[in-house]
Amino acid sequence: MQELSHFINGNLVAGTSGRFADVFNPATGEVQAKVPLASQAELDAAVASAAEAQVAWGATNPQRRARVMMAFVQLLNRDMDKLAEALSREHGKTIPDAKGDVQRGLEVIEFCIGAPHLLKGEFTDSAGPGIDMYSMRQPLGVVAGITPFNFPAMIPLWKMGPALSCGNAFILKPSERDPSVCLMLAELMKEAGLPDGVLQVVNGDKEAVDAILENETIQAVGFVGSTPIASYIYAKGCENGKRVQCFGGAKNHMIVMPDADMDQAADALVGAGYGAAGERCMAISVAVPVGDETADRLIEKLVPRIEKLKVGPYTAGDDVDYGPVVTAAAKANIGRLVETGIEQGADLVVDGRNFGLQGYEDGFFVGPHLFDRVTKDMDIYKTEIFGPVLSTVRAQTYEEAIGLAMDHEYGNGTAIFTRDGDTARDFANRINIGMVGINVPIPVPLAYHSFGGWKKSGFGDLNQHGTDAFKFYTRTKTVTARWPSGIKEGGEFNFKQMD
Ligand code: NAD
Repeated sequence: MQELSHFINGNLVAGTSGRFADVFNPATGEVQAKVPLASQAELDAAVASAAEAQVAWGATNPQRRARVMMAFVQLLNRDMDKLAEALSREHGKTIPDAKGDVQRGLEVIEFCIGAPHLLKGEFTDSAGPGIDMYSMRQPLGVVAGITPFNFPAMIPLWKMGPALSCGNAFILKPSERDPSVCLMLAELMKEAGLPDGVLQVVNGDKEAVDAILENETIQAVGFVGSTPIASYIYAKGCENGKRVQCFGGAKNHMIVMPDADMDQAADALVGAGYGAAGERCMAISVAVPVGDETADRLIEKLVPRIEKLKVGPYTAGDDVDYGPVVTAAAKANIGRLVETGIEQGADLVVDGRNFGLQGYEDGFFVGPHLFDRVTKDMDIYKTEIFGPVLSTVRAQTYEEAIGLAMDHEYGNGTAIFTRDGDTARDFANRINIGMVGINVPIPVPLAYHSFGGWKKSGFGDLNQHGTDAFKFYTRTKTVTARWPSGIKEGGEFNFKQMD
């Protein structure tokens, strides 16, 4: 049995707490590794050495720091296949999905190469007589990131890239379900030239998270995960005087107008609803066709597409549409919610309950499910299922459809499919949701824009990546400097004027 490590001061280091978590191969159900769960003392020691390393890193000029990111991008590209394989082995997603996971993280590192420009600050010449005023963005010191299982490369990269480029030391606490890829990322950062101690990977569970929240040296915490934990970390971190941003769960609605291209909408729903087994915070989990006729046409197009989906292990080739969910507990939870949906009166149009895969009977595979005639009061509508289950809620009008999305407690992403510019524009302007797609089902902003949900999907006032990340990981210092002019005509210095 492989025993994983932490990454401290530039080396893989065994855990000393004596506590471990199982890391599964979701395709076979086997425990393939044990990950150490750090104690508070281990976390505190990692932070103390990060604080020492940060002093020189924070004083390193931004261009030199950017060169480390430049080298890191090359190494990520060099090791793309290895990273994707390690990621799929622990997460279960297909290799093309795993490469996408690394790629979307890599793009944020590419953006970070522009850090010298983003950290330039502001300058006002002659703000008063002989007075100049300038602001600079300085690193916070030691900052931490706590990340979820579903994007084990992308989200850690979204956090470590901007934090390190701004001159901070970074403590990463990855998900204990698929931690290996983060250890590989840390080794590549070292190879790219990052000084030891500036990036520490501390594996762990609630004990390590609480230690982060209690540690007085840590100045800021960025979290991504489920909403109950996001709200706990936000409250506790703020109470302890830290800068905190937390991104939580989602229930993303896709509205399908009667004038939409129905084939395009159905293809989009299948990709966005079932891709990565529905374990994406930007997955579409609710389809809202407007009008019964639209709903009937949509369901008719969806069913054969869903029935054709190929579910299997990542090793079965690139034509697999999605793999297993992450744990047996996740599979059981999805199964429970599906049963609740049936009990509460939803119409199960595609039934994935008896799905089985020969040779992988103990794997955490879940067949695709499609519900029709779901209503607002049902648990499958209110809850984030985080599995391959798409719910259809029939709305009679556009107003009813937009109202559904607006009233839902989550506000991560949403989409509308229509050929009508007026409707699309009205939707984008009025909807109270952070990321909006128009004929685009998963509107994930690119690295140079920022990513973040509203309502119970986002806590804190700055988003991830884009220029927001550079604001989150720095603080502004503003200097007012007076240099009274003492130059007389003829170039001689007039000391009297300096009084
Ligand atoms: P999770 O909340 O279970 O875990 C996230 C992190 O919190 C992990 O590092 C975990 O170790 C830690 N954690 C878990 N329980 C804790 C506790 N009781 N106290 C302190 N820390 C704890 O989330 P997950 O299952 O890993 O990820 C899936 C969730 O993340 C989904 O809800 C999904 O929507 C959400 N997500 C959101 C975004 C976004 O940007 N909004 C992106 C990806 C995932």
